[in-house]
Amino acid sequence: MSDGAFGRFMGRLLGRTEEAPRVLGCVVVTRWGGDDVEPTVDRLREIIAELDERDAEHPDAWMTHEASGWTLALDEDGFARLSDPEFENVFHLPGVTREQGLALWLAFAAEGRDGVANQSWAAGAFPPEIVAARAAEADAATERSERAFYDSLGAERDEVPCRRPGCARGAITHSVFCRTHHCEQLWNRPCRFKH
Ligand SMILES: [Zn+2]
Repeated sequence: MSDGAFGRFMGRLLGRTEEAPRVLGCVVVTRWGGDDVEPTVDRLREIIAELDERDAEHPDAWMTHEASGWTLALDEDGFARLSDPEFENVFHLPGVTREQGLALWLAFAAEGRDGVANQSWAAGAFPPEIVAARAAEADAATERSERAFYDSLGAERDEVPCRRPGCARGAITHSVFCRTHHCEQLWNRPCRFKH
């Protein structure tokens, strides 16, 4: 019997025909920042399915076991990450399929870290090569979004000089700065585009 059919069966058994049963004792934060308190199993499936899209800036969704404060994250690369409330004990598990991820979350919601202790967790958040690849992918994503913003700023005016001392460029409409210095002012970090 599928989980959905099982849920409906249990619902009938308990006299509840409308509401799907909820996964108790947990809060899930989805990869794009929504949070779900005690979601249904179907909702957990949806949250996990969101990980099929690539988004290096938001690679994971995580469940917190409320009684213990431990957290189990699942990410788009098939890693699970287990951490205590202070992130002092962090473990990872590679090669987790979406279905295994759901099973991990259900066991974790029920029993916290004891529920998933039968897995071969390795110490540390991720292997160094994964950390480096992630950083590069996130940086490329940031560059793409910064570039799109920069290019949306429009032309610099010949008759209004950029206010930044020593800059020979003109200011864009609605700013006292050229495109580059407008971005630096806004982002509070160097702008990599000069065109
Ligand atoms: Zn300038």
